[in-house]
Amino acid sequence: MSLIVHKYGGTSMGSTERIRNVARRVAKWHRAGHQMVVVPSAMSGETNRLLGLAKELSPASTTKALQRELDMIASTGEQVSVGLLAIALQAEGLESVSYTGWQVPIRTDSAYTKARIQSIDDARIRADLDAGRVVIITGFQGVDEGGNVTTLGRGGSDTSAVAVAAALKADECLIYTDVDGVYTTDPRIVPEARRLATISFEEMLEMASLGSKVLQIRSVEFAGKYRVPLRVLSSFTDWNIDLAEEAASGTLITFEEAVNMEQAVVSGIAFSRDEAKISLLGVPDRPGIAFSILGPVAEANIDVDVIIQNVSHDGKTDFSFTVPRGDHARALELLKTQVGPAVGASQVVGDARICKVSIVGIGMRSHVGVASRMFRTLADEGINIQMISTSEIKTSVVIDEKYMELAVRALHRAFDLDQAAA
Ligand code: ASP
Ligand code: MG
Repeated sequence: MSLIVHKYGGTSMGSTERIRNVARRVAKWHRAGHQMVVVPSAMSGETNRLLGLAKELSPASTTKALQRELDMIASTGEQVSVGLLAIALQAEGLESVSYTGWQVPIRTDSAYTKARIQSIDDARIRADLDAGRVVIITGFQGVDEGGNVTTLGRGGSDTSAVAVAAALKADECLIYTDVDGVYTTDPRIVPEARRLATISFEEMLEMASLGSKVLQIRSVEFAGKYRVPLRVLSSFTDWNIDLAEEAASGTLITFEEAVNMEQAVVSGIAFSRDEAKISLLGVPDRPGIAFSILGPVAEANIDVDVIIQNVSHDGKTDFSFTVPRGDHARALELLKTQVGPAVGASQVVGDARICKVSIVGIGMRSHVGVASRMFRTLADEGINIQMISTSEIKTSVVIDEKYMELAVRALHRAFDLDQAAA
């Protein structure tokens, strides 16, 4: 008997008919002798709808007090899902019980709208599992020290599922979604993209953080930290398919580096439009300048990604960095009114029409010339590179948003990721 966690995304939970299918699939696993914990998302579109209502009343939720209420509102989508799924499972003849984050409890910090999980109490879940029940836990939410409801950031149900799997030391966490695995890139942009049967945890971490939307980045971090066996697979297969076949489908995230000489140098191309650039021009180049600029940005809870500082001329330099597009207005305001004047910048400018395109592959460790092939490919397409950032297993470039699809297609081809002719 294994302990298995299933996570179902919003599309998989999108209607009562689909919820019935989820229930049948879960029932199949339960009847095969597994202890089952299920973590669903809100029904598709529901979180947007709920947050849209809040927006009608208050266009920008900039204060902590407002963000607290956003979490109060957004968390209800998942509460509806777990209740419906519990009913559907009972209709299939199984005993099941649903819990919200605070009932488990799933403890988080108090960073509303992007809280981090700190601990999960597994006592209640275990008691139910031992009594033969299927346990259904809301994705996306938790509770802070003060008893306030928190949410984990958009797409956070993935993280809930992996965290629950880690806390329970589950044998596997299966993420059921509307795609059948992790692809070399988004097939909507490159139809030749291929599904990867396996991907290393490190590559997955890069792909998720670089804009591949298949898994929320924190869920991958959690999986790495606690070594949770993780698989991404489709919820759109017939619920009745053979369990062994289903259990081997999709993409498995692996922890051992495959010693495979055939392994492609680049495994995937990630991209993100969720980027914006901020530049401070004419900043005095002295020790502490990066901290003076980025310290206040971090304090405002804004993630900074690619950073570049130019060589200085006459003691002055230009300093640029990227932030999530959703935080661009807030960051720009902070830099224009406070940070820029404080550090003596001559000008602060923003650009929200950029994107980031990245190549990812552990094969890059042992191959030289990979980045230069990327740069040549972009040059051949006449695409100007604004910023570059590299790690051992990825190279990212920031370019004009309007060239994003062209860049992704060209790179997919240049690194031989296009589907081999059958
Ligand atoms: N319902 C939340 C969202 O839409 C969490 C999730 O689906 O993972 O972001
Ligand atoms: Mg998702």
